[in-house]
Amino acid sequence: MILTHVEEARTALRDLIEQSSRIVAFTGAGISTECGVPDFRSKDSPWLRYKPIEFDLFMSDVLMREEAWRRKFALDDIYLHAQPGRGHYALANLVASEKMPAIITQNIDNLHQASGVPAEHIIELHGNGTYATCLTCGLRHELDVLRRDFEATGAAPECRECGGPVKSATVSFGQAMPEAAMRRAHAAAIDCDLFLAIGSSLVVYPAASFPMLARQHQARLVILNGEPTPLDSEADLILRGDIGDILLPFAA
Ligand SMILES: [Zn+2]
Repeated sequence: MILTHVEEARTALRDLIEQSSRIVAFTGAGISTECGVPDFRSKDSPWLRYKPIEFDLFMSDVLMREEAWRRKFALDDIYLHAQPGRGHYALANLVASEKMPAIITQNIDNLHQASGVPAEHIIELHGNGTYATCLTCGLRHELDVLRRDFEATGAAPECRECGGPVKSATVSFGQAMPEAAMRRAHAAAIDCDLFLAIGSSLVVYPAASFPMLARQHQARLVILNGEPTPLDSEADLILRGDIGDILLPFAA
C-alpha cells in the first residue's frame, strides 16, 4: 500500500509502531536534507566539485591525501554545522521509549548523535565525517586541530602518536565496509519486528540488503521516502512524501 497523504501516512505509521516492540530504523540522506546536508548522490551533489578520492589513491600518494583533505574541509563548510531535523528527533524519541534498539544509518553527518541518541544505539555503515582516525593505530583525531595545522602547512595530517596517515572517519570508495558495524546491523535487522527505511534510495549495496534481511525474518517493512525505491514491491507500507512532515508528530 502506498500512502501519499500526510495525515493518512502518520496514522498508519502510528498504528504499526504501536503494534511493534523492536523497531529498527535505517536512514539515508533524505532524513538530513531538511537540515542542510546535501544528498551526495543527487544530481547537483557537491561531490561534482569535490570528487571523493578512492581509498587506494589516498593510501598510496601523499599528494592525493593532501587533495582529499582540501576537499574534505571545503565540504565541511557546507554541512558540518547542520542541526538535527524532525526525523532525527522522532527517532530519538523512539529510542528513548525503548522501542527502538538500533538506528542503522548510511549518513556520516553525526545528526542522530546530535539529536540525543546514545552512540551505542547508532550503527554507522559509512563511518562518521565529524572526526578522523589514524589508519595505522586507530587513534581518534579532532577535525579542528587537523584543520588548523593543515591550513598552516598544507601537509596531509599524520598521527601524533605513530606518524601514520590520518583520514576522515568515513568509509571511502574502495575501502572495506566496517566489519563490526555490518555485524551489528545484521543482528539488528534479523531481530526486529518492524523495519523503518527512511530517506534512503535503497540502491547502495551491501547496505540496502538490510531491509530484505529483516523482511526474510518476518519483520514488517515500511519505506518512507520522497521517491520510489527498488524495494517498494517488498514493503508492507510505503509512505511517499516529506520525511520531516510525516515524522513531525513523533518528534514532539
Ligand atoms: Zn596512529
